[in-house]
Amino acid sequence: MTQSNRPACTSCPNSPLTVDHVLISCPLYKEIRKRFFPYPLPSLKNLLLNTHPVKLFEFMRSTNLKI
Ligand SMILES: [Zn+2]
Repeated sequence: MTQSNRPACTSCPNSPLTVDHVLISCPLYKEIRKRFFPYPLPSLKNLLLNTHPVKLFEFMRSTNLKI
């Protein structure tokens, strides 16, 4: 699979569906994000460094996305 085959976000057609889009910027997951992560959000790097992998996994599961 190449980069150009990446699906776009369902609610943001101009945004590729990437980990940082889902974790940080997508408005669609704002409410789920608030349940799992501190607010306001740190950078993606800090979020990944400071968040337990289980929590990240639970977040991804809540979004019903498979990335
Ligand atoms: Zn989005």
